[in-house]
Amino acid sequence: MISDHRVELITLDREIGDGDHGENMDRGFQAVLPKLDDLAAGSTPGDVLKLVATTLISTVGGAAGPLYGTAYLKAAAAAGSAVSLDGPAIAAILTAARDGVVTRGKAESGDKTMIDAWTPAVDAADAAAAAGVDAAGVFAAAADAAEAGAVATEPLVARKGRASYLGERSAGHRDPGAESSALLLRAAADAAA
Ligand code: ADP
Ligand code: MG
Ligand code: MG
Repeated sequence: MISDHRVELITLDREIGDGDHGENMDRGFQAVLPKLDDLAAGSTPGDVLKLVATTLISTVGGAAGPLYGTAYLKAAAAAGSAVSLDGPAIAAILTAARDGVVTRGKAESGDKTMIDAWTPAVDAADAAAAAGVDAAGVFAAAADAAEAGAVATEPLVARKGRASYLGERSAGHRDPGAESSALLLRAAADAAA
């Protein structure tokens, strides 16, 4: 998913940042893929999330590397040693991931960052899980909300990250990290479906 949208993420980041977001994210997830094959039999979702975290932390760089690294690390902790994850577990994992990004980056809703994708995603996931929707449906609800959240960053003025250096000129462009977050949640939803 990230590889397919590499150029789109580069283009978004070129408009309000330094143009490296697609490259950074693709490098990170390309590094993850071969490592998945090396995972021991019986590895849990938590093991996979932890592997993604450590790989992203060491390969992505920039603002997004430590933020996504923290998100996956907190997600791994929330997943614990569970072998399978139901709707409420997925909602709890997404909440932990989002909270990790907030703790690390201190962004609030409306600052025009990935949080503007994550927070609506978490709210939608919580609502879906509370309504008894299964894990795949919780991911789908999160992905739908994240995509809407990413689009809704377009009119915002950035208050965090590199885009904030542009002030008012950051308005009129979609935040690249919000877009990559929506892509990751869509990939998860597709995989779970
Ligand atoms: P860099 O800006 O260092 O080149 P990237 O281009 O990889 O890093 O990532 C930029 C993205 O990181 C932004 O689009 C935004 O979504 C996200 N971001 C930056 N700062 C923060 C923050 N403090 N909190 C949450 N997300 C942030
Ligand atoms: Mg960048
Ligand atoms: Mg950079």
